Amino acid sequence: MLNLSKRLFVAQGFALPLALFYSRNANAAEGFDFQSVRANYLERIRKIKNTGLLPIIDIESSYNPLEIDLSAFTRSMDRAGIAMMCLSVDQPGKLVEQGAIWSDHALESFVKFPEYFIPTGNGGNHPAWTKFPLDFLMALEKFIPGHNYPLMGEFEVRHYPSPRQISRGAFFRDVEVAIDGPLMERVFMLAEKTGIPFQIHYEIEDKLLEPLARMLGKFPKAKVIWCHLAQIRYQQRSTQYGPAMLEKWLDQFPNLYIDTAFGDALSRYQPSGERHARFWSDAQAWTNLIVAKPYRFLAALDIGGDRMDKIEEWTKNLRYFLNRLPMPTREIVAYKAAWKLLFNEELGSL
Ligand SMILES: [Zn+2]
Repeated sequence: MLNLSKRLFVAQGFALPLALFYSRNANAAEGFDFQSVRANYLERIRKIKNTGLLPIIDIESSYNPLEIDLSAFTRSMDRAGIAMMCLSVDQPGKLVEQGAIWSDHALESFVKFPEYFIPTGNGGNHPAWTKFPLDFLMALEKFIPGHNYPLMGEFEVRHYPSPRQISRGAFFRDVEVAIDGPLMERVFMLAEKTGIPFQIHYEIEDKLLEPLARMLGKFPKAKVIWCHLAQIRYQQRSTQYGPAMLEKWLDQFPNLYIDTAFGDALSRYQPSGERHARFWSDAQAWTNLIVAKPYRFLAALDIGGDRMDKIEEWTKNLRYFLNRLPMPTREIVAYKAAWKLLFNEELGSL
């Protein structure tokens, strides 16, 4: 039976239907329920493993809910051996401008393909986060705990335009929000209170390190996933970060996790002309750190609304990195670390 419920959210003084959230059963309308899907998730992981592929849980991907073809998307996941994706809505600008700051479409995708998706809160990105941050935070504080999302999306805190954004002239993607300012403070507080992790896009630069360290120390129960291990756009702005520094941080801040979405060895950041995926220039030292602390590193594809057809291609790059890791680290980073972080269970052998 189709259960239909409308949710209203007030943005900029207008009450508008926020998201037409529907599901095939009444329980799903109430949000994510891990216990109801746990066996299906495990079964899917086992199935992929039995084909000889390393199963992967992708901790960080987003999509455009108006343009996604979920059937095609899940078929790509099957071909690529992606067990589950933590999939987060990038709310399209035209909906945001109409007052729909938030969408629960990720729950809708989960209801349609439960064993494929781990519903993730909307990404903190343009324009909802950059133009209407207070409305966005209000929605976040209501819907993340209200619908039992196990994970919040990626917040653009310090974000240079990506190479693709630059090539299409999307310079508004240059985002700067203080990690220790009042907006991010509310995100840390929500994570601390609920135990639900959030993700940050936070360029690696000397002057940005101290404020982040301070917030990690101030909110020790807020689990933070710092996306894009060792992705440095301008080397001259980053003289401190490296395997030794990160090792110290991981010891000092047990609430810090790192995702491993970064480019291949040749990928360049055009504005600086530099090869920004620095993992590759110090691969052995990074690998040693990951081996020493495997549960702190998470496999990530970083699919987005402008690259929803790239799952197979990008999985190839991710596997190239994962296959460098020795066992059992490889398996932990590929899916066991995500499982433990999100569901608080350590997976044995499946
Ligand atoms: Zn990012």
